[in-house]
Formats: sequence, C-alpha cells, structure tokens
Amino acid sequence: MIFVVSFIGAVVASFCCVVGERYILNESFLAGRSRCNYCRKNVRLIDLIPVISYALLRGKSHCCRKKIPTDYVCIELLVSVSWAIAYAKWGISTESIGYAVLTCLLSIITITDLRAMIIPNKILGCFFLFFVLFYWSTNQLSIGRFVDSLFMFLFFLCIVFFQKEGIGGGDIKLFILLTFILGLYEGMLILLFSCMFALIIGLLMKKRRGQPFIFGPMIAFVTVGSTLCEMVLVKTIFPFWFL
Ligand SMILES: [Zn+2]
Repeated sequence: MIFVVSFIGAVVASFCCVVGERYILNESFLAGRSRCNYCRKNVRLIDLIPVISYALLRGKSHCCRKKIPTDYVCIELLVSVSWAIAYAKWGISTESIGYAVLTCLLSIITITDLRAMIIPNKILGCFFLFFVLFYWSTNQLSIGRFVDSLFMFLFFLCIVFFQKEGIGGGDIKLFILLTFILGLYEGMLILLFSCMFALIIGLLMKKRRGQPFIFGPMIAFVTVGSTLCEMVLVKTIFPFWFL
C-alpha cells in the first residue's frame, strides 16, 4: 500500500508541475496533452510516468533529445517520498489529506517561482479557500488560525517598514498562508529555517546583496521537512518555546 501511495504522490506532483508550468504560459491545465518544452510535440503516454520515464529516457525528451528539466523529477521524488512517510505516520486520515494538499501547493509554487519568479495570488487564494473549507468541515477552523495569520502579517509589515528590499511579496503571502495552515509556531520556525537555509545557499552561490533570490523552493523544502519531523529537533533544542 505504501508503494501505491508514493506512486500516486509522484503522479500528483507531476500534475502540479504541469499546473505551475501552464499557469506561467497562461494555458489551461485541463485542456490538451502534455507537450515537449522545446518542440511542442505531444509527449507519448509512456513517457508520462513520473520518475520512471525520466530514468528510462536518461533525462532527455523522446522527440528532440533535449534535456528534460531536472526540477520536475526532483519534485516528483520528494513528494513521493514525503507521501510515503506521511502515510506511514498518519495512515489515511485528515492529517495526511491536509498534508497531501499542502505538498500540491508547494509543488506548484516551486515551479512558478523557479520559472518566472512569481508566487501567483490566484494559486495562494485557491489553496486558502480549500483549507478554510477543509478545516471547517473537520471542525478545526478556529479564530486562532486567523489571529495567527494576522500576527504573521503584522510581523512582515514591521520588516517591510524597516527594510524596503529583501523579501518578495509572494513569499510574504506564502508565509501568511502557511501560518494559517500550520499555526504560528510552525510558521515562525519555517521562516527562521528558510532564512538560515537561504543564507547558507546564498553564501555557497556567492550571491551579492540586492541580487534576486528565488526563495519559494526553499520555503517549500523546509515546510515539507519540518511538517514531517513535526519539529521534533527544534522542540528538543528550544523546549522553552513550547512551554
Ligand atoms: Zn521535443
């Protein structure tokens, strides 16, 4: 069963990548088959199997032998592994369903941020609506979630007030949405760890201040990791935060 879940995870992640890609190209994600990024020919059905097709084709498209973007296969692999872990932890439950939808959001914004450096409002809005309905239907919709999000908003308002440049508007909205979904502690910790992660990568890549920085994928990576670990590590290091 766990293999079925992780395979479905890879298929869903693959679909989310297409949604992100087509959003940028302003195409409908429902109409039409997947096409090659280079020559726009239809991709054969057999080449649409996540991860496996990529391995069989050795990372090159069948039609014109050009390189298939590696971020696709990375996202498919990560989501598939994380769905397997989530299934092992929570089984089929509201937690795992909420988590699965969260990985969809993160996959889509990773692609839009990598390709066009945007985190679309429409995508964030759709997922916000979904989670409002989801928490409402599972009796988990409390005023606290909105207060937490408001607090995160005010926190960023202060940051933007004191420092004009730095973090992008899309990233801020994503953090506010993540706070709504996961709560203020998790939201703050994801912010802290994403910044640390970005700092390390920035130093490694020798990015200068003021150069544009693609933050979305890092937020996504940290969110997946921290949600699955349920901050076990952090709770051990900073236990006083959780008293
Ligand atoms: Zn092609």
